[in-house]
Amino acid sequence: LHSTEASAQKVDSRFKGHDMLAPFTAGWQTTDLNPLIIDRSEGSYVYDIDGRKYLDSLAGLWCTSLGGNEPRLVAAATKQLNTLPFYHSFWNRTTRPSLDLAKELLEMFTARKMGKVFFVNSGSEANDTQVKLVWYYNNALGRPNKKKFIARSKAYHGSTLISASLTGLPALHQKFDIPAPFVLHTDCPHYWRYHLPGETEEEFSTRLAKNLEDLIIKEGPETIAAFIAEPVMGAGGVIPPPATYFEKIQAVVKKYDILFVADEVICAFGRLGTMFGCDKYNIKPDLVSLAKALSSGYMPIGAVIVSPEVSDVIHSQSNKLGSFSHGFTYSGHPVACAVAIETLKIYKERNIVEKVNSISSRFQDGLKAFSDSPIVGEIRGTGLILGTEFVDNKSPNDPFPPEWGVGAYFGAECQKNGMLVRVAGDTIMMSPPFMMSPQEVDELISIYGKALKATE
Ligand code: PLP
Repeated sequence: LHSTEASAQKVDSRFKGHDMLAPFTAGWQTTDLNPLIIDRSEGSYVYDIDGRKYLDSLAGLWCTSLGGNEPRLVAAATKQLNTLPFYHSFWNRTTRPSLDLAKELLEMFTARKMGKVFFVNSGSEANDTQVKLVWYYNNALGRPNKKKFIARSKAYHGSTLISASLTGLPALHQKFDIPAPFVLHTDCPHYWRYHLPGETEEEFSTRLAKNLEDLIIKEGPETIAAFIAEPVMGAGGVIPPPATYFEKIQAVVKKYDILFVADEVICAFGRLGTMFGCDKYNIKPDLVSLAKALSSGYMPIGAVIVSPEVSDVIHSQSNKLGSFSHGFTYSGHPVACAVAIETLKIYKERNIVEKVNSISSRFQDGLKAFSDSPIVGEIRGTGLILGTEFVDNKSPNDPFPPEWGVGAYFGAECQKNGMLVRVAGDTIMMSPPFMMSPQEVDELISIYGKALKATE
C-alpha cells in the first residue's frame, strides 16, 4: 500500500523539486515534490499538462460550482477589466459592482433579515473579520471582557492565525503556537464517531448542547462573545449535524447573549440543496461568512453578512470608538464583485437549488450504496457534499494503521481512473460542481466503486 498522500501524485520530472513553498504541501514527507499540474478545465473536468482528463469531484477546492469554463463569468470579468480594473472601497469611496453585490447578497439571504455586507478576499479573511466585528461590537457596548469565541473540534475556518485558531484541527495548530487564548473548542457533532452506546441522535445533540452550556458557565457567560459553526462541517471530514443539533445549540447561545456566526464558506449557494446552509437547519445567525461559490471560484472574493443589530451598533458607536479600522486593499474588488454578481445571476436563472436537488439523490444514494464495503466505516453527506471514512471492522474505534495509507491508496486509484478526490488520512471528501449531468454523476460513482474494489 502507498504510505502517504504524496505518493498518490503522478510524477512529472519536468517540475520535480519545484520553486514553490506550496500551501499544505511544503514539508510533506520528503523534498521530492512532484506535483500534478492542472492546465485547463472544461465543465466538470480538469486536464493536466499532459492532456489527461479528470472528473473534478471536489470542484477545485469546494468552489467551482459552475464548473470549469462558464463563458458568462469570463465575459463579466473582461467587461469590468475594460471599464474599471481596480478602485478601492476605503474612506467613503467605492465602486458600483461592490454596492450592487452587497445589495444582492442582502436580498438573497432570507434566513433572517440582515443589515450590511463587508467584503474580503477569502474565507479566512471573512472569519478574521468576524472576530474584529464582534470585538468592536462588544467594545462599543461597553463589554470589554466579552471576547471569547467558541468553535468546534474538527471545524475548518481557515488558515490565517485567527481563522486557524478557530479551526479545530490539530494539524493547523501544532508548531504555530495556536489556538489563540481567546478561542475555545467544544464537541464535534459527529454522531457515528462520538455517540454513546444506545444514544439517539437527539440525545447526542442534547448532550452536546449541555456540554456547550457547561463550558459557557465554567468560563463565565460574560466572557463569551460568539459561537462559530459550519452548517455542515466540510474539511474536517464532511459532517452533517445530527437531528435537532442546531435547534438546541442556538437555544443555549441565545440564552447567554452570545452571537452566532455561520461559516457558510462551503455550504452557501446551493451545495446542501438549499440556497444557504442556514435555510436547511433553520439557523438564525448574527453573522455569516461567505467565499468560494460566491464567484464560483473564478475570482478570490469573500463576504461577511452582518445583522442589523451588530451593524447598527457599529454605526451608532463609531463617534465613541472611531471608525471600524479594518479592511483590505482588495475588499470589494470591482472585477471580483462583477464576477460574483454574474455568478449569482446564473444561480437564479438556472434555479441552482433545484438543479442540485435534481442530482443529489443520485449522487448520495449511488455512493452510499457502497456502505457495506468491509473497509468503509461511514459514508455521509447531504446535497452535493459527501465524506467517506475508511476504518477496520466497520468501527470508528478501529482506524487502519496510518502507514497502510488506505485513503491515499484509494485517492491514487481514483486518479488512475480519471477522478480527483480530497484525501485526508483515511477520510475521502467530495463536493462536485452543481452543474454536473446525471451521466457525470454516474461516472463519478463508477470510478469510486472501481477504486473502492481495488482498495479492499
Ligand atoms: N471556512 C470554511 C468552512 C472553509 O471550508 C474554508 C476553506 O476551505 C475557509 C473558511 C477558508 O477559506 P479560504 O481558504 O478561502 O481562506
